[in-house]
Order: sequence, then C-alpha cells, then structure tokens
Amino acid sequence: MTETHDQLASLASAYALGALDPEERRSFERHAAECETCTAEARAFSGVVAALATSVPQVAPPPQIRDRVVAAVSGSVTMPAVGTSTVLRAPAGARTSRATRYRSRLEWLPYAALLAVTVGLGGYSLSLRARVSELEVRLADATSRTLLATRATADAQRVALRAQSTVDVLTAPDVARIDLAGQPTAPSARARAMWSRERGMVFTASNLPPLPEGRVYQVWVVTADARISAGLIMPDDAGNSASIFTTPPDIPTPVAVAVTLEPAGGVTQPTGAFYLLGKA
Ligand SMILES: [Zn+2]
Repeated sequence: MTETHDQLASLASAYALGALDPEERRSFERHAAECETCTAEARAFSGVVAALATSVPQVAPPPQIRDRVVAAVSGSVTMPAVGTSTVLRAPAGARTSRATRYRSRLEWLPYAALLAVTVGLGGYSLSLRARVSELEVRLADATSRTLLATRATADAQRVALRAQSTVDVLTAPDVARIDLAGQPTAPSARARAMWSRERGMVFTASNLPPLPEGRVYQVWVVTADARISAGLIMPDDAGNSASIFTTPPDIPTPVAVAVTLEPAGGVTQPTGAFYLLGKA
C-alpha cells in the first residue's frame, strides 16, 4: 500500500516521540526515505525531544493525563481544545481503521507534546532558576572574600608603610628628641616627639585623660613666631597613642612641641588648654 505524503507527514512528531506502532513506524520510515520534508520534520522534533531528555529531570505525567492519553489512543475520549471541545468516538465494536487512528492521534498528540514541553520547560526553568541563585550566592561570596582580602592587603600595606616611616624618622641623621611633660590639666601624662625636618615626626604619648565627647587632642610645633598643627591624636582606652606626622620641611626650627584639647576635626590655631608641653 502506498501512503500519501499528506497521510504520513502528520506522523513525523509521533515518530520522533516513539509513539508509532511498528507498522506505522515502518510506513513512515519507507516514506521518509524518499521525502525530505518528512525527514526534516522528524529530525527537528527529535532535536527537541533529545534536548528535553538531557536538560531536565524526567517527570512522570499526572495519572489523569496519562489515562486520558491512553483512552484517546484506544478509542473514545473528550479532549479539551482552546475555545472548543472535540469528541472522538470510534465506532462501537468496529475495527478501528488506520485513518481513524491517525485522526485520533492527531487530536491527542499536540496535547501530549504540549504537556511534555510544558513539564519540561517548567522543570528546566526551575533548574535554571536554582542554578542562577546558586551562582549569585557564590558570586556574592567571592566578591566579599575579594573585598576582605583587598582590605587586609591595604591594612598590611598601611602597617608596613607606617613602620617604615617610623624607622625612617628615628634613623634620620637630623632627628631631634623633644620630651613633653604633663601640664596641670593632665599631670601624669607624658609624651615624646622625634622630629626630622626631612622625614617628619613620630609622636608617642601615654596617660592622657579620656577624650570628652566631640573633642580631640591636637599636636603643635611651636616656632619663634608661629604654632603649626602637626596632627590630631585620639588615645586608646589606656590613654596611649603613637602617631607619625609629616611636617613642612621649610618650617623654622621648633622651640617647643605642645598638645591642646580642641574640637573634633582640629583647629588652625590652638584654642584649648595645654595638656602637654616640651621645649626643644
Ligand atoms: Zn512526506
């Protein structure tokens, strides 16, 4: 029997899904061997089926769907369609003709295919979303670890730079030492300034009283006719501090170094009480 293209073309998708019986399968293959259109159709649908099979977890269809599909193949069922309803009924007790089986298959196949694609895409979408979430978590984790590493590196560089600067000042050929004594506001406070015109000032202090809210200690280099701010210090809970300041290389030779209590942020000229004072 010679099948026409019109009869067999509609079997391409069922062929790709493996839904043909052996006789139909052989008919389709005989025809497809001479028909590029049907071969291409089956191949295109095979690609979709293969992609679904490899990219998503296999999900068993709900039993009521399976029952309806089985009923559709074996004879009579009502399949809902968009905006309408189609009743398929095989002649009772009659041998189902091939044409009827084709029609029947044509009716249910789109639903089965749609079900497969919907379930497949649903699973695929869920698995993609889970994968994206997982990648987002890993990216955030990597980003925060990179930030921490960058911060740690910057901290280490600051510490190293500070240590190097301190050594530079202390070993400067022109380094001068100025000891500061606590004034009546802080009798037990002590400080020492190591100053190099070229390399700056290392300033250490101990026993400074706790800072009042909104206040800071300010270090001054006192020359014959000016008081130049060297920088601010905020002692730790024990009243100790160690700082390194750069000072202008062209300042006149200091006659003294002093520490005053000033508003947070510092001032351009001393306004508060002297806490520490040492003559050069
Ligand atoms: Zn064909």
